[in-house]
Amino acid sequence: MKRFAIHWQILASLVLATVVAMIFRQVATGAEADALPARGIAKTVEVCGFIGDLFMRALKMIIVPLIVTSVVSGIASLQGVKGFGRLGLKTAGFYAGSTFLSIVIGLLLVNTIRPGHSGGKPNEVIREAFESSAANASQADLDKVSTAGGREAEDFLEVFRSMLPENVISAATDNGQMLGVIVFSILFAVALTRIPGTEMQTVRNFFQAANDAMIVLTGWVMALAPVGVFALILPVVVSTGAGLFANLGKYFVTVAAGLLLHLFVTLPLILRFVGRVSPWEHFRAMRPALLLAFSTASSSGTLPVTMRCVETGAGASKRVTSFTLPLGATVNMDGTALYECVAVIFVAQVMGMGLSFGEQFFVVVAALLTSVGVAGVPSASLVAILLILKSSGIQGAETAVVALLAVDRPLDMARTAVNVFSDSCAAVVVAKSEGEELKV
Ligand code: ASP
Repeated sequence: MKRFAIHWQILASLVLATVVAMIFRQVATGAEADALPARGIAKTVEVCGFIGDLFMRALKMIIVPLIVTSVVSGIASLQGVKGFGRLGLKTAGFYAGSTFLSIVIGLLLVNTIRPGHSGGKPNEVIREAFESSAANASQADLDKVSTAGGREAEDFLEVFRSMLPENVISAATDNGQMLGVIVFSILFAVALTRIPGTEMQTVRNFFQAANDAMIVLTGWVMALAPVGVFALILPVVVSTGAGLFANLGKYFVTVAAGLLLHLFVTLPLILRFVGRVSPWEHFRAMRPALLLAFSTASSSGTLPVTMRCVETGAGASKRVTSFTLPLGATVNMDGTALYECVAVIFVAQVMGMGLSFGEQFFVVVAALLTSVGVAGVPSASLVAILLILKSSGIQGAETAVVALLAVDRPLDMARTAVNVFSDSCAAVVVAKSEGEELKV
């Protein structure tokens, strides 16, 4: 019997989870809290939460060994090292350029749509909604925001510091420190090329075989994706509050429009005219990774599948993917940068603070820099938003961020898909410029 391709399976479970969750919501609103249907729903949501957690853990479990083995096996040959500086420059150029473009899109839209205004004035209803949602926020959300608020502006420098971890093993155990692991693996791979041939060959073969095994393991976890995605999506749709969404409709439209424009216009144009690859074919190759990024809201968690799609689907070499993709999952976040820019200016509009050109320029630069430091995990960018709001002197920063956190998940899912797609675009554009034959 012919099996459905994995992306269709994931899509089907995404739709099914949404439909089931909608039915649950409908049933739950009519039922008493302790009646059988409500309790059954609560139990199902709890079980899904547990299964979803298991799936995320399985994905995360693969990340460190996959990054280390693929970076080392991809680079530890003279061929891999040759032109490595050029590869680095092209990748950095792509990442900076595409992130900048995405921020400009966000900036233009938020200044045109003005989601924080109503009738040309700051929207009082949203301001009140911010306050009431902060008053009703869960303790977990409040804690998250107050921890984030405690960070100093020197967080900008933290990115550079984390490139050189004092202890690479503890960097590997900390999700936010992936950059240190990547830099160490690159240095290790380059050092390998400096030791005698036969010894180097043994170590290289070891990393190559270990990487092949990790790829098989990724395939196994990916096969579980339809179940994992169902379990992740159902609780999200059941528990997302509709009230605040009504007030934030214009803000949602602004962010969503920006993300869609970047995903379906800017990046495809770059693919077509800079990379000379077919955007359509590239989208087809990336379907499983995009759906998984959307469902998990974590670009780090999606990394194993992104690598698989770009290597087997788009046909880029390990030499390029092993460098661009792990780095991209950590530092290149177009969707996040766009979102940060829109969110900060939106809050300023609601709070009645008109930002001058210079202040908006500061927001652009800050969004560009902080998006590099944001970890590829759900809701990570809210820390950056709080940081920018505070450094711009916008009042009510904490209240606003708590409110945004309450409705963050759908936008997080969308921006993560954009983040992942941009990484994959960099990989194919760089691969093509290195003269590789691709399948897209
Ligand atoms: N969830 C995003 C990611 O993993 C980061 C963020 O914008 O919060 O790419």
